[in-house]
Amino acid sequence: MQTSAADDMPMSMADYYRSLRLLIEQDIEGGVSFAPRIDTAELAPSVRSPQDVSQTTQNSTQTAEVEVPTTEALPAINFPSSTSAQDRLDVVAQMAGVCQRCGLCEQRTNAVPGEGSPQAELVFVGEGPGADEDASGRPFVGAAGQLLDRMIQAMGFERSQVYICNAVKCRPPQNRNPQADELYACQPYLVEQLQAIKPKVICSLGAVALRVLLGDEKAGISRNRGKELQWQGIPLVATFHPAYLLRNPSSKGDAWTDLKRVVAMMGRSLPARK
Ligand code: URA
Repeated sequence: MQTSAADDMPMSMADYYRSLRLLIEQDIEGGVSFAPRIDTAELAPSVRSPQDVSQTTQNSTQTAEVEVPTTEALPAINFPSSTSAQDRLDVVAQMAGVCQRCGLCEQRTNAVPGEGSPQAELVFVGEGPGADEDASGRPFVGAAGQLLDRMIQAMGFERSQVYICNAVKCRPPQNRNPQADELYACQPYLVEQLQAIKPKVICSLGAVALRVLLGDEKAGISRNRGKELQWQGIPLVATFHPAYLLRNPSSKGDAWTDLKRVVAMMGRSLPARK
């Protein structure tokens, strides 16, 4: 299939969707199973509802099971700047909603693509949805989310000013850690979100997000806190997951140090304490 991703011409949403599909289909050759077999030639996401797309997916065949791949970085497609960040995020959300690239799709109530400003200068990346997020389709709305909201406010932001997403977009059963094949399958969505938003700073919450963003399966928070990290040239700050902070409140001081560093890297000052 010919993609218009490399062209300088303005890209329609349907073209854009096809290009993202192409990226994902290339990846299937690398060994991801359960990929959705959507007929991209006929798809125009701006005029078709997710239910329509879901119908197409259900009628399709799945790819064969192959060896579990590692979480190595995927190639990037340089989409024309004429595609708005909002459109790109909408396409990711629509695709995640019908995705069958890994087994997590089988038990999801809702995919949880992410939410926030497409113009966000700060993106938080968590691990994966929990029960509250699966039920609502929104990231970080449970107990950990309430703590994240307070962290965001303390930094001087409204939640709507930042973007919040996860390494995997569907809930792992019993809130277990996402597995390597699930992280790998979901990675194109995260890559696309971060490339669309192009924030000034990315803040990873917990080891799972950090490992995905660094492409290092062994990366740990303690060893990476305070380090000058980056994801595709964007400064990356590693800190603890809010759920970890709820269980280990003694680490909140360290997390606050990390968040203050984020604020300084963004050239902002902290709001006056109430
Ligand atoms: N934990 C996460 O990592 N993400 C969420 O969205 C909620 C809890």
